[in-house]
Amino acid sequence: MKIIFLGAPGAGKGTQAEMIRGKLGIPIISTGDIFRQNIKNRTPLGEKVKAIIDSGELVPDSLVTELVSDRISREDCAGGYILDGFPRTIPQAEEFDRILAEKGDAIDLVIDVEVPDEAIVSRMGGRRTCPVCGESFHVVYKAPRKENICDRCGGPLTIRDDDKEEVVKNRLVVYHKNTQPLISYYEEKGKLRRVDGTRDIGEVHEEIVGLL
Ligand code: AMP
Repeated sequence: MKIIFLGAPGAGKGTQAEMIRGKLGIPIISTGDIFRQNIKNRTPLGEKVKAIIDSGELVPDSLVTELVSDRISREDCAGGYILDGFPRTIPQAEEFDRILAEKGDAIDLVIDVEVPDEAIVSRMGGRRTCPVCGESFHVVYKAPRKENICDRCGGPLTIRDDDKEEVVKNRLVVYHKNTQPLISYYEEKGKLRRVDGTRDIGEVHEEIVGLL
């Protein structure tokens, strides 16, 4: 099964993707995580995208689409995958559909996790990320067992540069302008399902399981 998670930054896409990964046994492809890993390892790709990501703007379409196209051709994606954070613009979605169509393939389901902007801004203030393994937490909604320590690897939790309030506001502007149009794009193709992301993480998860 090939699934796309849509939604504003901080809507809970990553958390929900993680929760269904085990059930479906397919990998998650998070373009944001791939970029952050590259920034951390100071690769040429990381150097290229760091300033863009720190400002909350989008990495150029061709670069992201090529990256995802390469990633889905790996063996672990043969049984499907979950996309978190891609596509984020209409050109990315169109190009991705074209790449899949060339292989006689298509996306099965697009889940839009809907959360109003005000809730996003307050949520993201509480978000904490592990710079070592990439796992994310929230001081209220998904607190680590030990304060500021990653449950998964014991790393020190930090606030991502692009989770700072001014950057979050810019990311929302960028989201409404570039990514929100994808909702109609997939709705017209009959692929879109909406879920109310303001509810408890477990309730949102149950609804998503029902859609699969
Ligand atoms: P995320 O963790 O998905 O919120 O992504 C963090 C940042 O990575 C975004 O704010 C963008 O700068 C960049 N990014 C991730 N995915 C994409 C994409 N599909 N297109 C363009 N930029 C992206």
